[in-house]
Amino acid sequence: MKENKQGFNTKLVHAGDYEDMYGSAIVPVYQASTFKFKNAKHGGDCFAGRADGYIYTRIGNPTIDALENKLATLENGYKGIAFSSGMAAVSTVYMALLGQGLHIVSTNAIYGSSRAILERDFSRFGVEYSFVDTSNLNAIENAIRSNTKLLFIETPTNPTIEITDIQKAAEIAHKHNILVCVDNTFCSPYIQKPLDLGADIVLHSITKFINGHADVVGGAIITKDPDVYKQLRQTMIYLGGNMDPHQAYLTSRGVKTLALRMDKSQVSAMTIAQYLEAHPKIAWVKYPGLKSHPQHELAKQQMNGFGTMMSFEVKGGIKAGEMLMDNVQLAVLAVSLGGVETLIQHPASMTHAGLSKEAREEAGITDGLVRFSVGIEECEDIIADLDYALKLI
Ligand SMILES: *Cc1c(COP(=O)(O)O)cnc(C)c1O
Repeated sequence: MKENKQGFNTKLVHAGDYEDMYGSAIVPVYQASTFKFKNAKHGGDCFAGRADGYIYTRIGNPTIDALENKLATLENGYKGIAFSSGMAAVSTVYMALLGQGLHIVSTNAIYGSSRAILERDFSRFGVEYSFVDTSNLNAIENAIRSNTKLLFIETPTNPTIEITDIQKAAEIAHKHNILVCVDNTFCSPYIQKPLDLGADIVLHSITKFINGHADVVGGAIITKDPDVYKQLRQTMIYLGGNMDPHQAYLTSRGVKTLALRMDKSQVSAMTIAQYLEAHPKIAWVKYPGLKSHPQHELAKQQMNGFGTMMSFEVKGGIKAGEMLMDNVQLAVLAVSLGGVETLIQHPASMTHAGLSKEAREEAGITDGLVRFSVGIEECEDIIADLDYALKLI
């Protein structure tokens, strides 16, 4: 059966696998930095691309290849590249596609480091940027200049849970010959397939849903076009943000249960969002699955499910947020998301405490805003945990 005809769970388990010399049932970890050549001619042929051998792990490694091929299949792409972190993937995309006097249009509420590296580092090399609300298609159109090379979208955003119409945004960008990269970390390929919607590159922090077990930091990009792939691969090799074989091995194991994990968490997330929306101590809940979400219809159309991420506002500001953090007992008080364990975070007292209230509110972070990543624990246990902590506020 051809791989691309198989169902998603089948691909998760088998895509990208190859048989090693011992018939190992899983892809083994080739924890080697370098590979032997058969002779001088073979070495020369490998470097020239005339032979298929492995050379050096920064350039390529069987364990990493298997994961890259699996991810490419899952995203319906041409090929994938795995990285040491999500940020290594982001910085490689910027480095490969931007340059002196070139311009990027990006989602304003994008992952903090994806924004900061443009403002702090790429700006020093003459890269220009515009951060706009990409959920507003006119804002994208208006931000495009003659030197714009890349549209970088994150959807849904964090923690504001705003959704950009990938298909329409890509149509606008392509009219101007601009490449489109979508950070798909919040959805994973199970819930959203940006390449099918017209994007050219899809990017992941595999630290989150793809690995799913809070034990790997990693990243990936998958492209549709062989030329864009080649360009990005070469920049990755020079910049050196490659994944390590052991990271790839753990990720290959973690990703097999992606759909099972997300199915369980998504069903719970919907129930929890409804519970919170009805709770007298909660001012609002933002979750794409709720009818109250302003882009609920777009989410239904663009996503295969509503994900496991939500934010909500506990009444009573910073103090109430802190009390909730200090009184939950099951939910893990930590950043990151998309793991088997439920995670809770209060940006105003934690990650964004260093910003002024005004700067926080400009980023959509109100004092009582809580970010919640629903894990695979039993839904009633997660609700009981929230219920107990909310009673104490
Ligand atoms: C975590 C995250 C990143 C960065 O990934 P790392 O693996 O932490 O380097 C990028 N984008 C999004 C949306 C993220 O959540």
